[in-house]
Amino acid sequence: MFADVDASSLLLDVELVEANITPRTKAIIAVDYAGQPCDYDALRAIADRHDVHLVADACHALGASYKGRPVGSVADMSVFSFHPVKHVAAGEGGAITTNDPGLAERMRAFRNHGITTDHHQRAKRGDFFYKMDELGYNYRLSDIQCALALSQMRKLPQSISRRREIAAIYDEAFAKTPAIAPLKTASGALHAYHLYVVQLEEVERAQVFAGLRAENIGVNVHYIPIYWHPYYERLGYSRGLCPVAEAAYERILSLPMFQGITDRDVEDVVTAVEKVVGLSVASSSG
Ligand SMILES: *Cc1c(COP(=O)(O)O)cnc(C)c1O
Repeated sequence: MFADVDASSLLLDVELVEANITPRTKAIIAVDYAGQPCDYDALRAIADRHDVHLVADACHALGASYKGRPVGSVADMSVFSFHPVKHVAAGEGGAITTNDPGLAERMRAFRNHGITTDHHQRAKRGDFFYKMDELGYNYRLSDIQCALALSQMRKLPQSISRRREIAAIYDEAFAKTPAIAPLKTASGALHAYHLYVVQLEEVERAQVFAGLRAENIGVNVHYIPIYWHPYYERLGYSRGLCPVAEAAYERILSLPMFQGITDRDVEDVVTAVEKVVGLSVASSSG
């Protein structure tokens, strides 16, 4: 089941989670959209009440924290991606964190064809014996990818603080422009700003998107509602299921956000956004 999001943060609406839990539900999966952690205290209470696992899709939120606790430690399992566009890139691959030794063991076997020991452990024991306990896959991350990811981990704090500076510049600039509404952020969380997303009020997103691309600003849209994709349509999910997310999809725009962007470029983005949105406001009000 898909539960809808909160209209101002675009994070999972915790009020709607419980109504979507059925006897077949095994886990609540929450996405830390844009890099802001979800309300994990509220989600934990619901997960415990229904005896289901809590999984964080924290791919946007590496380096973020929730009420002082680092993302990666607040759910039963937290999922991270090292895809090239993410905070820490290893080419491909990812990591899952857990504090549960049973889940850790299960995942280690799952990534290794379902085999309960790896070759390091066998070498240490001086033994050849191994056991395949359940069906698994080759989801192993190579040493080369790990070396790259580890070297990038050292730069993470710097990257997050730069991203937060950029977000602060955008926030301040757009506070005086009613047609541009940055996503709402909660005070208890430290945002990792994988994305900087605004919602456009009373202007056509298509017009603003085209106008900014014409100004050479690399804006984007994250994301198309997942169940609008043919795969989910074929599974029977139909439009209208999550009206808040669908309405937000029509209005969202991601602005340039990366560690290497200069203050000068951020100012250029602000100027271009205000110009293009201003023109759109003028044209839509006739
Ligand atoms: C990147 C990303 C994924 C997928 O990561 P892969 O490394 O491609 O598996 C999943 N969820 C979110 C929120 C992401 O940003």
